[in-house]
Amino acid sequence: MSDKPSSITALFQQGGGLSDTLSHFELRAGQVTLVKAIERAIHHKQHLLAEAGTGIGKTFAYLLPTLGAKKQVFVSTATKHLQEQIFFKDIPIIEKVLNRRVSACLLKGRSNYFCHYHFDDFSKTSMGMNRALKGKMQRIRAWSEQTLSGDLAEIAEFTASEQGIQKRITSTTENCLSKDCPYFDDCFVQKVREKARQSEVVVVNHALLMADIVLKEEGFAEILPDVDVVVIDEAHHLPKIATQAFADHVSAGQLMDLARDTRHLYRQEANDMRDFDEVPAQLLSAVQAFNKALSAQQPQGQIQLGELKQLPEAYRAFQQLMQAIKPLLEGLAELAERSDELAHLYARAQAMANRIRHIFTAPQNRQPHQPNEGASEKSPKPNKPNDSATGSTADSATADSTTDTATDSAEKPSASVALLEWGEDYFRASRLPIELDGRFRQVMNYYADSWLFVSATLALGQSFQHFSLSLGLPADIETLIVQSPYDYEKHAVIHVPPQLPVPTAEGFVDALIDEVLPIIEQTRGRTFMLFTSYKNLQLASKRLQDSTFNLFVQGEQPKSQLIDAFIKSDNAILLGTVSFWEGVDVHGEKLCCVVIDKIPFPSPADPIIAEQSRYLEEQGKNSFVHCYIPQAATLLKQGAGRLIRSQRDKGVLIFGDVRLLRKSYGKQLLDVLPPANRVNREGLEAFVAREL
Ligand code: SF4
Repeated sequence: MSDKPSSITALFQQGGGLSDTLSHFELRAGQVTLVKAIERAIHHKQHLLAEAGTGIGKTFAYLLPTLGAKKQVFVSTATKHLQEQIFFKDIPIIEKVLNRRVSACLLKGRSNYFCHYHFDDFSKTSMGMNRALKGKMQRIRAWSEQTLSGDLAEIAEFTASEQGIQKRITSTTENCLSKDCPYFDDCFVQKVREKARQSEVVVVNHALLMADIVLKEEGFAEILPDVDVVVIDEAHHLPKIATQAFADHVSAGQLMDLARDTRHLYRQEANDMRDFDEVPAQLLSAVQAFNKALSAQQPQGQIQLGELKQLPEAYRAFQQLMQAIKPLLEGLAELAERSDELAHLYARAQAMANRIRHIFTAPQNRQPHQPNEGASEKSPKPNKPNDSATGSTADSATADSTTDTATDSAEKPSASVALLEWGEDYFRASRLPIELDGRFRQVMNYYADSWLFVSATLALGQSFQHFSLSLGLPADIETLIVQSPYDYEKHAVIHVPPQLPVPTAEGFVDALIDEVLPIIEQTRGRTFMLFTSYKNLQLASKRLQDSTFNLFVQGEQPKSQLIDAFIKSDNAILLGTVSFWEGVDVHGEKLCCVVIDKIPFPSPADPIIAEQSRYLEEQGKNSFVHCYIPQAATLLKQGAGRLIRSQRDKGVLIFGDVRLLRKSYGKQLLDVLPPANRVNREGLEAFVAREL
């Protein structure tokens, strides 16, 4: 492709389609560079990794070239907020710019769509329903007969206590009968899939995209159609979501659903096998007993599976749970020939048994691993691959094979980590891959010719290596960094107070507050204080309680209400932890100071981080360099990005972590921040007095 302006890049120029449509249009050189790179990638059917600084206008930069080239595109985002912005705000603008209608579809996960089969099935249990529930079911039935979408958001929000009902009237990949379903022709999931197939733009979220990718990998067609281009916006979230999607999971809810469905279908279609009626009930009580034993240890927790043996009561309950699965599988194996539904149920039970076997039988060798900030890289040791379970029969997942191996410590390294998480009324066991081993890369081509990964935080310095490796992307993928159009040098300064104690020192939060309070008084509030822990947030909140500022503290109101209240208030300070480090957009004068307490390193006690570190060290890599620094850099960049959200915004960034000045990695982390001038205390005060 030549570098001559195309008809699409012309749309981004002064006097082009965008400037005629947007009231606040600004010519952005970085946006045009991004558009050209995207046009090239689409034209040559290549992939692209692009870090686009805040304010580039990346949605238009990827949608206009793809639609202009008449390509069908998925746009996947991490947050509902961005999904809705693209669907409800940006696409209508693009229609005006292109002067034509764009067919678009906002696609949600299965659990959002009414399922005729499971609704009918659930209705048959109406004997046990109270009047209120019967009334709700009647309203849902009436709505289901006239809705076009089947999207349950149209009818009602289900309260927390009604989440169980929503589950009973929607489908999962496991319990959908698909072509064997008597309602297949009227099925809303099938209809929305067809609508997506015919749309030019399909907006989805990363979780749905990844769930679909995993099913495609296994050879099952799921909801999403194949398209020409996939855009992964907010791409920095994808590795974590991909890891969860490629993991094997089994939860209390899944086991209980299996037990209930078995009991229900058995009574409906068989009911003639001696003693089998008791089997699902035994599984149900074994699930509850295991949950109770875990909760007795502590109300909620997360451990590596290898540590379960150290909880004797829970371990005993776990063994009984494994024993309860075997007769269910044996019984369903006998019943499977009786009907399609029973055959389907047996296949589902087999799949779950195989997952259990994989989760509980791969090797465990875990001790917490501490990162070594000063360690040099060692010569690589050979990577011993994970022992994956390949058995496919129900018998292979017997209680004996799982209980014996679930908690044994094998000393060989593995490329996965097995976790057990629980709360008061749930538990979930998972085996997560430590690296994706090309699985993601292999399925990329199923979907599209071009994958465009876009985010404001993908690179460390000039390198995309961390992100690229975390997804296993092709080594030769094109990369691009386009800087934010905002004038950070003029509009912002960065200050790191050099005399503060290190963040682990006693009294650190008090010292930080003492340091920043005069500046916050000078800025008349208008400050975000972002913390890496609730502990620090609470200490700061307590300390500021008697101040004259209007305090807005995370947890006191839902996030969006808290931000609205902050914007409407004068002399305000908002205190938040990680969920406030990104996706919070306060434009204009209401926010002009962002204080970040410390470098947001991940916790070495996090079992996934511990396992990733161990794996890297086993490969001769320094886990601090390859895991802790990149993760901290991404979050630090996100947090700092809260300050300047438009061309006119001005403000100061204050970091309370002196390691940024004293440690060798400090410079690397300072380099990921927006290109504002670093100033000392006098410079900071002078900037505030002059500009704010
Ligand atoms: S095909 Fe699946 S989702 Fe559709 S009605 Fe049947 S069971 Fe429900």
